[in-house]
Amino acid sequence: MKIVVNSVKCQGSGECLKVCPHGALKRVNGKAVVDHTKCDLDGLCIPACPHDAIGFCESDE
Ligand code: SF4
Repeated sequence: MKIVVNSVKCQGSGECLKVCPHGALKRVNGKAVVDHTKCDLDGLCIPACPHDAIGFCESDE
């Protein structure tokens, strides 16, 4: 399981960066990117995204 950002839906608004308590999200080239070494899968960023661009992915790849 991991958090993934849909780069098509992501508008780079940065709302997810504000809510992540672990600093696991950053903006790269105008899109949110997850640092999986910091993410603890709490899911707080999912409802924070106004564009429905973040979700869980079953795959760890
Ligand atoms: S799931 Fe939680 S720890 Fe992981 S990126 Fe989202 S807010 Fe941060």
